[in-house]
Amino acid sequence: MARVEVADLHKSFGSLEVIHGTSFDIDDGEFVILIGPSGCGKSTMLRMIAGLEGISAGEVSIDGTVVNDLAPRDRDIAMVFQDYALYPHMDVATNMGFSLKLNGHDKAEIKERVGKAAAILNLEPLLDRKPAALSGGQRQRVAMGRSIVRAPKVFLFDEPLSNLDAKLRVQMRSEIRELQQRLGTTTIYVTHDQTEAMTMADKVVVLNGGRIEQVGPPLELYRHPVNLFVATFIGSPQ
Ligand code: ADP
Ligand code: MG
Repeated sequence: MARVEVADLHKSFGSLEVIHGTSFDIDDGEFVILIGPSGCGKSTMLRMIAGLEGISAGEVSIDGTVVNDLAPRDRDIAMVFQDYALYPHMDVATNMGFSLKLNGHDKAEIKERVGKAAAILNLEPLLDRKPAALSGGQRQRVAMGRSIVRAPKVFLFDEPLSNLDAKLRVQMRSEIRELQQRLGTTTIYVTHDQTEAMTMADKVVVLNGGRIEQVGPPLELYRHPVNLFVATFIGSPQ
């Protein structure tokens, strides 16, 4: 379990600043959704937290330790991407165990951890399939499996459901949330989908143009939006 703190984070690409000083905290085991329109800086925020993008100014801390200068693999964070980023030439089991192999874990331990994750995600019958032979929902589960096997302190999700059809999206919302609650892993989940924010989050961070508009539980944002942007963005149905 882990507490994450984002303090006065800035990001510039060349001379253009796209994140203008954002701060928020995520409690141990909390599921926080970062929501905002396309281009507002959600992925950039997530990538800075993961260590995939440099931080121009400000701090990211995990359990009180500043991680700005740590390489991604030393942050104990696992990220699930929108396109799943599975290795096409590896079967499901190898995809799921690959990061453990890179980190030097032995075969027996990799097999055990992959087996446990596969059981949790109902992937046991699919372990020897290649990604091309999987449905969208199954690929999504493999991408989550790859994160789970590492037992990270923090999960990051970047629009993990946007490539799925509407029916599967509804199902995966509850699957992801149930999984997160079962594991108790601190999670930051990025989306531009209001329904995901309202139904999944413990706490919502509303981002607009690289600035935070409001932070609070879904109902509070819905009932007491601080400005017209939040009211329109949260209140408007898809
Ligand atoms: P979101 O995920 O909310 O759609 P992004 O974080 O991807 O937004 O992008 C935020 C802003 O930063 C956008 O204006 C985008 O064009 C810009 N941006 C993102 N990545 C880069 C990059 N590597 N180089 C230059 N500009 C970038
Ligand atoms: Mg994005």
